[in-house]
Order: sequence, then structure tokens, then C-alpha cells
Amino acid sequence: MFDSLSSKFSSAFASLRKKGRIKSGDLTEILDEIRLALLDSDVALEVADSFIERINARTANSLDEINRGINPSQAVFDIVHEELVAILGGTARRIRYAKVAPTVILLTGLQGAGKTSLAGKLAKYLKDQGNTPILVASDLQRPNAVTQLQVVGESVGVPVFAPEPGNGIGDPVKVAKSGLAFAKDKQHNIVIVDTAGRLGVDAELMAQARNIRDAVNPDEVLFVVDAMIGQDAVKTAQAFLDGVGFDAVVLTKLDGDARGGAALSITEITGRPIMFAATGEKVGDFDLFYPDRMASRILGLGDVQTLAEQAKKAFDGESAAKLEEKFASGDSFTLDDFLSQLEAMKKMGSMTKLLGMLPGMNSGAMKKQLDNFDESELVRTQAIVQSMTPAERTDPKILNGSRRVRIAHGSGRQVSEVNSLVERFTQAQKVMKQMRNGGGLPAGMALPPGMALPPGAGKAPGGQKPPKKKSRSGNPAKRAASS
Ligand code: GDP
Repeated sequence: MFDSLSSKFSSAFASLRKKGRIKSGDLTEILDEIRLALLDSDVALEVADSFIERINARTANSLDEINRGINPSQAVFDIVHEELVAILGGTARRIRYAKVAPTVILLTGLQGAGKTSLAGKLAKYLKDQGNTPILVASDLQRPNAVTQLQVVGESVGVPVFAPEPGNGIGDPVKVAKSGLAFAKDKQHNIVIVDTAGRLGVDAELMAQARNIRDAVNPDEVLFVVDAMIGQDAVKTAQAFLDGVGFDAVVLTKLDGDARGGAALSITEITGRPIMFAATGEKVGDFDLFYPDRMASRILGLGDVQTLAEQAKKAFDGESAAKLEEKFASGDSFTLDDFLSQLEAMKKMGSMTKLLGMLPGMNSGAMKKQLDNFDESELVRTQAIVQSMTPAERTDPKILNGSRRVRIAHGSGRQVSEVNSLVERFTQAQKVMKQMRNGGGLPAGMALPPGMALPPGAGKAPGGQKPPKKKSRSGNPAKRAASS
């Protein structure tokens, strides 16, 4: 989402870093560049201006002091970083639980903002933390909203209170009220109320949301907004703030390629923090919003904390530890280990999204490689490995021609694909051996154990060709990078 902004920040600072001592003109130049980059990313004009003004106030009159330091450009960078964290809300804000359960969370926002999806994501997140949430279907307007909530609730194992069919039938205020009573009766400690939106802000929508709010007296009103709608996000937020009021913001569709200005403007304009971020359509594509991590990503510093957390979530500790142990003990890396890596990677969702969190991964050649990452390749590779017998997985050397034909049939793939996988796996195995013998982590594999890119990752879709023997590099790092 912030690719373009991020690369502009990087290039602005790259030229500042070359300067050594910073003159007042250099400062003006970089602030102009940053301002333009923000405006290009759809950041609201007033937010961009006050951001620049704050940086200017902290740098322009302190240039002598900054230049006396060891690294003047780094000092300016740090100030920009701090101010970026500040416009993103400063410290992270979390759900305030009611003193007496249940805690009531009301979701508001335009139709299509992602409220219903968010209801499921939030319910799952809260359930995983040991809560007993219930979803209340008060969006009785949007076609299929009730069914969608029921499906989502079922998929995350959270009950849905839905006494009305929706599609224009039923009273949403009554549903919200009886949902709350039901939750109290059944001792759910959190109630998440999904409400209707319209395609645009209108008086009826606001009145309905207000009435539901008054009926359930929520502990948290969350305004859900699609980050892809650019400048309009800020206007819509203002309208909801005036019409219904809200305590915090949830940004959805941060996985999109919009320019991200909404994220940077909304807190400053509304004075409300961003609490959660949704980054995809799956229930797991959801995270707490951390202003400092987001600022780091925008500045090209990556977001290693989130990556590490996601990795930890995806690898059950036991199999990661087993793999690590195996690796250290000198046992060979088998296709079974490889299969568990693939499964873990699939669990992690889109690799590109995650790897983009590593510093420097969001630009240039690495980005291109990530963009080419084809998740269906994982599934195909997995099918091939699953068609092998345990003996074959442990010792792929026994894979003769007829065994390969059998595996190809079993997995519905071509023999050439089986060959390619075996060849790549053998290569990966060699690289692992070299790493163990002190060769260090090869390029493209700068990941925790168990997260080595599998054969096929980063390849352009459309089939893999086995690497040409002649052009193979003698350097394992180069070889891994080119596979
Ligand atoms: P509602 O009308 O506010 O309830 O919106 P929905 O929850 O039905 O979402 C509208 C569409 O946006 C659906 O197709 C969702 O799958 C999709 N969606 C929701 N959140 C995200 C997200 O974070 N990223 C992406 N790419 N799509 C999302």
C-alpha cells in the first residue's frame, strides 16, 4: 500500500545522506520532497502541511546542533520517523473492556467498507484471546449481509444472533437490543454488532446507526473504513464522527495498491486512533495497528516485529524446534521437512505480504520477485510431495523413472514438474548443508529456520524449468538467489 510513498522517502533520504553537513537549503529541499510525496499519496493537504511544519520546527532552528552530531542525516530521519509515528496516532490503542461484561462493540461505516468481514476477523481475534464473543446481525439492509455474517461466524466458531432474515426485512434496532439481552443471558463477554451502511453517507443511515448506538450503549464504536478510497475516507470519517461518533478506526484493504493517504490523515483529522488493520479477505488477514511499525514500513525500515509474530503464529513451536534441532544435529533435510515448511507457509497466508515486511524487500528486484510469487505453486508442489512414499521423502535418491511417473500420476502433475522439484530440492538440501558448515545464510533465505523459500517460490508463474547445469554458479549463495 505504501510502496510509492516508501520509495519516495527512501530516495529523499538517500540524497540527504550523501550531504554530510546539512544546510538550510538541503532541509527545505527534503521537506518539499516529503510534502509532495505525501500529497501524491492522497494525504490530506492540511495534514501534510502540519506534518512538514512540525518537522521544520524541530529541525530548522536546530541545524547547528544537528550538524554537530555524528550523523546529521540520521538525526533528521529520526525526527521524521517520530513525527510519522505521531500522525499515525502515537501509541497503540486497544479495546477497552467494560467493567461489567458484556463489552459491546458497534461497527459502523459505509457499505462495502468491510464491516461484516471485519466482524468475523475481530470475533476470531477476541476468541483466540480467550473471550466468548457473539455476533449480532443488525445489517438488515445489504442483500445477504445476514447470511454472510452467519457464514463468517461459523467459519470462526463464533455464534451469530440473527433473528431476522435481512434483505430489507426486520428492525435493526430491535435486533441489536435483543442481541444484547441474549448475550447477557448466555454470558457472552463480548457482543459485536454489525450495522448497515450505504454506498454514500446519508441521513437515514446516520439516524439508524445512532439509534442502534443508543439502544446498546456500546463501549467501543469502531468506524470501519476502506483505505482504498483515498481522500474520500477522510470526508466519510468526518461525517460519521459528526453523525454517530466513534472511538477508534479500523482500516481495511491495506493490502490494496491504493496510495495509503487515508491511513496517514484519518487520526490527525478526526482525533481518533486506528485500532485495527485488515489486510485481506481471509479471517486471518487482520492485525492490531501499531503506529510505530507502520511508520517504520513507510520509511523503508521494514516491520520485522510483525513478521516475527506471524512466523511464530504459523509455526507450531514443536515442529520449528524439531527442525532446528535436526538442522543443528547434522541430519539431512528431507522432503517431509520440506512438506511441513510448505504447510507452514500456506498457513502464513500470502508470502509476498509477509516478506514485504523485511527491510529492503519492498523495492527493486526483490519486490519484483515477491510480486511473482505464485501461491498456487505451493499447492502444486505440496501435491507432488504428498504423492511420494515415506521412503521416497526421506531419500529422494531412490526416485527412479517409474517412481517419478507414478508420483506425477498421483498428483495430477507432469513428470517434468516432479523432476524439477527433485532437482530443486536436492539443491536446497545442499545449500542447507553448506549453511550448517558455516557458509552463512544465502541470499533470499534470510529467514528463520523452517522458512527457507521452497523451490518454486519467487518464480514467475507458468511452470518451472530445471536450472541449466552449465550456468550454475559455484557460489551457493548465488545459486540459491537464482533458484
Ligand atoms: P460491508 O458492506 O461493510 O459489510 O463489507 P464486507 O465485509 O461485505 O466487505 C466488502 C468486500 O470487501 C468483500 O468482498 C470483502 O471480502 C472485501 N474485503 C473486506 N476487507 C478486506 C480487506 O482487508 N482486503 C481486501 N482485499 N478485501 C477486503
